[in-house]
Amino acid sequence: MVHAPRTFPPPPQLVKHSKKWTLRFQAVLNANPPRDWATPQAKKVLRAALRELAHGKCVYCESALEVTTYLEIEHYVAKTVNSDLAFEWTNLLPACRLCNNAKGEQDHKGALLKPDAEDPEPYFWIHPDTGKLEPHPRLDEAHAHRAKETIRICDLQRPALCTKRVEMLMRVLRATGSLWKELCDPRTEYKPVLRHALEIRGQHALAEYDRERFRSATL
Ligand SMILES: [Zn+2]
Repeated sequence: MVHAPRTFPPPPQLVKHSKKWTLRFQAVLNANPPRDWATPQAKKVLRAALRELAHGKCVYCESALEVTTYLEIEHYVAKTVNSDLAFEWTNLLPACRLCNNAKGEQDHKGALLKPDAEDPEPYFWIHPDTGKLEPHPRLDEAHAHRAKETIRICDLQRPALCTKRVEMLMRVLRATGSLWKELCDPRTEYKPVLRHALEIRGQHALAEYDRERFRSATL
């Protein structure tokens, strides 16, 4: 998942027309034959803003939307669950078709992680051989439940996603080479020097990862 805090205000046209667009949606909600939930103009406004929110990626599976699939306007709370939130800026996220379809109209009651409001990364551990997501082993039961629900609701164990995660891990291993091996070996001498060098070069995450391993090894 992509942590996507809302660092910019909603698009002015959304602010101006959200009430009108919401009323239109509520009027066509049960139309027969079905009608699209938003006008092409409204979708254009929303897509442009949402593309910026998560750096052009799906917030759930991290696929690049321009490359793999078209950006879909995802409602964190499904618009059929609460039609008042259909054009509420804080309820809108960019997603790919596969994640959006998997999630559908499920009423997750807040169990789904909300990547604009909370950092999803601490919730997950990635299996290095299979690329599958798992709840991070340090989570308590309530947080592990949210991680599991997020994986299930968005179908984040799709084989293509697991393959991409393993490929990324292989790239990291190739790029860091013997340094990575030294980091992963708790017997490496003078580890703090290595971690300090990483910190100086801005590799805080890699240094912290090693500290975590060291803590685990001493428990
Ligand atoms: Zn996706």
